[in-house]
Amino acid sequence: MAPHWKCGSGQPVAGSNPALSATTPGALEAKPCVAGCAAPLTHIRVRSRRMLAGAFALAPFAPSRRLMPRLPEITPIEYGTFRFPDPALARRRGVVVGYAIRHRGGVFLFDTGLGFGNAELEETYHPEARRVEEALAGAGFAIDDVTAIANCHLHADHAGQNLAFPGVPIYVQAAEWELAHTTDHTILEWVDFPGATYLPLTGDHEPFDGFRIIATPGHTKGHQSLAVQTDHGLVVLAGQAVYTLDEWVGNADELEGRSGAPDRDAYDRSLERLRGLEPRHVYFGHDRRSWTRSGS
Ligand SMILES: [Zn+2]
Ligand SMILES: [Zn+2]
Repeated sequence: MAPHWKCGSGQPVAGSNPALSATTPGALEAKPCVAGCAAPLTHIRVRSRRMLAGAFALAPFAPSRRLMPRLPEITPIEYGTFRFPDPALARRRGVVVGYAIRHRGGVFLFDTGLGFGNAELEETYHPEARRVEEALAGAGFAIDDVTAIANCHLHADHAGQNLAFPGVPIYVQAAEWELAHTTDHTILEWVDFPGATYLPLTGDHEPFDGFRIIATPGHTKGHQSLAVQTDHGLVVLAGQAVYTLDEWVGNADELEGRSGAPDRDAYDRSLERLRGLEPRHVYFGHDRRSWTRSGS
């Protein structure tokens, strides 16, 4: 059984929800939606602060192209580990992994990791979590480098440190948002915070050239994954659409996500959809290992 990350102590933030009124940060420009999605706030393109700063800079020192990384560049960010409450999994320890994707428009962060300070969660899961600033710094990023975020879903192990990013646009499925605000789904004070700038999506969406957010319901109704086109081929960040590499290849052991999914049919369909993309490489939200297509 996979963990469920439900928390009974999350209290709604008082007052109206500032997030859906989405005061967009300064660096947004209109862009037609190539995914045909109907979400009202999604037809935007984010330009990084660095790009804007560059527009006013004097002729910069141009580093050799040979020294520049090939973009987009995907870096795993390990946010911490936790204990499974299921006694059958007592000998194992779970891991939470997000990803920073450096691209020409800035750094896109896929998930913000475990939150801090919730007694019930700590008693249940015994997390050993890293602050997102520390986790990013360990991988060579500053927190201010992050120009956009997507949460695969809003459970407390994937959206737990969203509040470290006021003003940064956060892509989330509208169905997930509704779930979080109408059921006992997550720790709401980690989701609703001053300056929260959520961009609700309905289905697939392409926020930047070569990036596609893909709706992959199953683990939750509003789960989403990310596909990134790279020089090495298509890379999929599955999130928790599938729990481990073993489950991805159809050889899951006791650590799998399907049996605990509230909608197994949707889970199966989403997994098949990701497989149907024929990615070159796949990363997971709860597995340090990644999968590479044989022959690649
Ligand atoms: Zn979850
Ligand atoms: Zn999770």
